[in-house]
Amino acid sequence: MQEFLTIVSLRESLAKIRRADKKIALVPTMGNLHAGHLTLVKQAQEIADAVVVSIFVNPTQFVEGEDFDSYPRTLEADLEYLKQINTDLVFIPDMKEIYPENIQITTEVIVPELDSVYCGEYRPGHFKGVATIVTTLFNIVQPDIAIFGEKDYQQLLVIRSLVKNLNLPIHIMGSPTLRESDGLAMSSRNKYLSETERLQAPLLYKSIKKMATSIEKGNKDYKSLQKEAFSSLKDAGFKPEYLNICDSKTLKKPINQELVILAAAWLGKARLIDNVAVQSYD
Ligand code: AMP
Repeated sequence: MQEFLTIVSLRESLAKIRRADKKIALVPTMGNLHAGHLTLVKQAQEIADAVVVSIFVNPTQFVEGEDFDSYPRTLEADLEYLKQINTDLVFIPDMKEIYPENIQITTEVIVPELDSVYCGEYRPGHFKGVATIVTTLFNIVQPDIAIFGEKDYQQLLVIRSLVKNLNLPIHIMGSPTLRESDGLAMSSRNKYLSETERLQAPLLYKSIKKMATSIEKGNKDYKSLQKEAFSSLKDAGFKPEYLNICDSKTLKKPINQELVILAAAWLGKARLIDNVAVQSYD
């Protein structure tokens, strides 16, 4: 496994790979890797000849007052995991490498239609930060393929959108959410849960699943379904931000049968997000 700290050195290696007509895949991460991240890398290895994993805790996608400073940074363990699964290249830039200019005046990428709904409403500026860093990484690596987790569903749509709008020649793939045995979606932020909260946490997924099952059985009363699940989460000690049944492609009001149920809820110090895709029937 080769580790790169600079854009120049990474590009030199990638140029050789590209000259050999090999396909390059990129898996962007913020580190603190868990099995969910590793499934993305394995999926990339199946479809590409060389896989680049980037590890960079991007400050611009954290809103003021969020956990940028305390976000778990576990580089040594991350590199060990990546080595064990034979990752080809790891890109570990520092802040200056990615943002050589004043971070406040750097060029930004915005996907307006998804920027300020759901997570964007509660984390203003978050998706601008995501879209900007992902575009930067795409320009540095110039991958043929990039893989993102479906766990961050809105993020995946933001990236699909920017790739389409900017005509980037990159194939974007989604990877299914990896869960703990009790259904909780794996996340670096699960570490913020206390022992009791950890036992409560799977209720978020259970609530979404229950809604999905009801829709699959023909229930079309989405408003009541949302209301009911929202209050049961509240009763259990969660502070839900949103829990909505929406169109799976636009996140707007459902107009066809392809739906996604999106949710974000605080439990103690952890902000949990989850989603389930579902199809309604006429
Ligand atoms: P992060 O380091 O949290 O920014 O995540 C890096 C990538 O891993 C993103 O594309 C996430 O959507 C994806 N990811 C995070 N958690 C999971 C999970 N439980 N299952 C699948 N992919 C995940």
